[in-house]
Amino acid sequence: MFEALKRVVRRQTRGGAIRECRRCGTTVEPADGGCPACESTDIVQYDF
Ligand SMILES: [Zn+2]
Repeated sequence: MFEALKRVVRRQTRGGAIRECRRCGTTVEPADGGCPACESTDIVQYDF
């Protein structure tokens, strides 16, 4: 029960920001060093 709750909280925390490639607009995972589509490192982050 408690383990399942922790997993949900972690997923919501991850959704607090979106990282997007400035060149092609691909969504970039925080774990990725750069854009997986065009390999650009020019990443913009939106917090909300
Ligand atoms: Zn890109």
